Amino acid sequence: MNPQLLLACFLLLSSLALAQHPQHKKPAKAAPVTRPKADAAQAIHQSALIVDTHADTPQRFLDENFDLGQTTPVAEGHIDLEKIKQGNLGAEFFSIWVEPEFKGHYSKRAMDLIDSVYQQAARHPDKITMAFTADDILRAREQHKFAALMGIEGGHAIENDIRLLRDFYRVGVRYMTLTWSNTNEWADSSGDIQDPNVKHHNGMTDFGKDVVREMNRLGMIVDISHVSDATFYQALLISQAPVIASHSSSRELTNQPRNMTDDMLRAMTNNGGVVMVNFYSAFIDENYRRASSDPEKVKHRDAEVEAFKKAHAHPDGSPVTYDEYAPIEKKWAAQFPRPPLKSLVDHIDHIAKVAGIDHVGLGSDFDGVTSLPEGIDSAADLPKITQALLQRGYTREQIHKILGGNFLRVMHEVEATAKRLQAEHKASDALTFEEIELMVGNRVTAEQLIGRINEHGVNFDLTPERRTRLKGQGIEDSALEAIAKARRK
Ligand SMILES: [Zn+2]
Repeated sequence: MNPQLLLACFLLLSSLALAQHPQHKKPAKAAPVTRPKADAAQAIHQSALIVDTHADTPQRFLDENFDLGQTTPVAEGHIDLEKIKQGNLGAEFFSIWVEPEFKGHYSKRAMDLIDSVYQQAARHPDKITMAFTADDILRAREQHKFAALMGIEGGHAIENDIRLLRDFYRVGVRYMTLTWSNTNEWADSSGDIQDPNVKHHNGMTDFGKDVVREMNRLGMIVDISHVSDATFYQALLISQAPVIASHSSSRELTNQPRNMTDDMLRAMTNNGGVVMVNFYSAFIDENYRRASSDPEKVKHRDAEVEAFKKAHAHPDGSPVTYDEYAPIEKKWAAQFPRPPLKSLVDHIDHIAKVAGIDHVGLGSDFDGVTSLPEGIDSAADLPKITQALLQRGYTREQIHKILGGNFLRVMHEVEATAKRLQAEHKASDALTFEEIELMVGNRVTAEQLIGRINEHGVNFDLTPERRTRLKGQGIEDSALEAIAKARRK
């Protein structure tokens, strides 16, 4: 049928219908314009694959014996299977965060947290699946399952050992935040960069740079949340793959040192990475940040936490965990009014404008923060973000990018870079620093070592730091000489 004719028929029929129902004649002024908007937002939200890159729930799994199948009040937790369903959350990066107090037991604590995530997937095989690649996340969605992934928060967890980094990759860790709030022995953190009592490195040491290179080679995403500005720029210079900020917001809007300046956001555009916006009230709202950083009030809270830790000291000497004293911090945070949802959306908007629509995503920090903006009580409220973005004029395609598409693109690129680097490495048999280190550690004789070095060459410069490290492992001077010579060739 001729479409114009069809339209004419339709108009005629509608006018007849209106004539029969005069009450419909007047355009209903009160007809809620928000209704179709809300439906449209719901449709966009439900059809999106939503990836959140930071939740601290593993501490609840491990320290509170919390199970994702339990539905708990929002005051107790931001994530459980019911909230995941309501929020249409498709994939979560569970944070493997090791409190610096666990000194001497970092990798053990990390492994316990990793195990706790696997346990959740094992207990709910029909609803949760472990995921290790971007394609795994896509597959989980096809199977209508929630994808659980893991990221280490704080490079101190590898205990200055590149082998442990590889082990963490082997057990499924797919990103590592180079530092948490503490500067470690190879990278500076924004958390203590002003503290003169902390030994800083002007960014990263040679070992730190090797960590970034090895992460690229493995296919572990480099995460620059929490790091100092110098560490950030150095990581971007070295990384051959796009990086992420797993949970960081804009410093231009909220003056928090672990938020990102506009210059950093533009550097992220060049790198091809993605900034996943943190929802924490103190990172997204300047009024809240100012109120909650009042030194007197902070001092009071810290004293209360310290007193609690003393009163509840564990008989085995293990540290009192965050989950134990979190109620004190939550109660303390509740004295400051929650910021409006608008503050969070402003950050997404700002990063989308400065870094570009392809470089922004969501990194909630659920179960790790004591205050969230109004309306966002848990993962169940994620649709409100979609609705707010739609109201600001974002298209369906743009919203899908923010909700997860951008992150998936980066994860695919990180995997492709790793494949390329591994192939390149196979093509050239020059020895890496790690291979030399391994041979020295395995007590290969100097003669054998020099033979291998002369035969294959080396692919690294013998910096003073590397020299010291090899010497510490007992390498002979003649082998060091051979390395220096091989590099000059
Ligand atoms: Zn964090």
